[in-house]
Amino acid sequence: MLLDARRSEDQAKLKGGEDAVAWVKEEQCIGCDQCTIVCDDDAIELYDVPLASPILNIAVNRKAKILRNPCTGCQLCVLACPTDAILMIDR
Ligand code: SF4
Ligand code: SF4
Repeated sequence: MLLDARRSEDQAKLKGGEDAVAWVKEEQCIGCDQCTIVCDDDAIELYDVPLASPILNIAVNRKAKILRNPCTGCQLCVLACPTDAILMIDR
C-alpha cells in the first residue's frame, strides 16, 4: 500500500510530452519486451548483449534502447517496465 502510494507520487512527477524523451538504464533492463509492446510509436528496439554469467548457460541477453526521434514522451513504457529501468529525461 505504501509502495503503491510512493509509486503514484513518482509517476505524478514524471516528465512527459514533447520536451521529454525516454531513457533506459541498461543495468536494470532484463529484456522482457514489455516496453516495446506498449510503445505505439515504434520508438523502442531491443539489442543483444553478452550475458556475463558463469552459472547460466545463456549466450546473450537483450536490452531496450529508445529511438529519440519517434519517441513522443508519452511515458507508457515507464509505467509498463517491471524493473523501473526507464526514466523520462529532457529532450
Ligand atoms: S515515452 Fe512513449 S513513445 Fe517514448 S519510448 Fe516510451 S512508450 Fe514509446
Ligand atoms: S520493460 Fe523495462 S526491463 Fe523490460 S525490456 Fe523494457 S526497459 Fe527492459
